[in-house]
Amino acid sequence: MMKNQEFEVNWKKCKNCGFIQHHSHIRCLKCKNEQFTTTEPSGKATLISYTILKSPPMEFRDKHSYALGIIEFENGIRLMGQIKENADLEIGIEVKLHNETICKDLDGREIITYIFEPVKS
Ligand SMILES: [Zn+2]
Repeated sequence: MMKNQEFEVNWKKCKNCGFIQHHSHIRCLKCKNEQFTTTEPSGKATLISYTILKSPPMEFRDKHSYALGIIEFENGIRLMGQIKENADLEIGIEVKLHNETICKDLDGREIITYIFEPVKS
């Protein structure tokens, strides 16, 4: 379980070469080994790329725009997701993760997932 977070994100670490990758891959993307340990994001999370969508899909039409970003933890794990704010974003800022309802699906069910929130300094 991620410390100070409300959700779990498990990743695979290759027992042969140490490469960290998403749990959906069956073999190591670097060395093709099939033996893994489980690992998790650790350390500070930094925004390494982002874009602002100004023509959101149907589920997000209540917002005029929203930001999507890729973050990287100190141990190299990367995640993509929505960013809570899209003002004052800069590559390299620190973000925290927390769970939030990001939209409702077409049947009205709430979709809850992690969201990135810039850390104010
Ligand atoms: Zn490997």
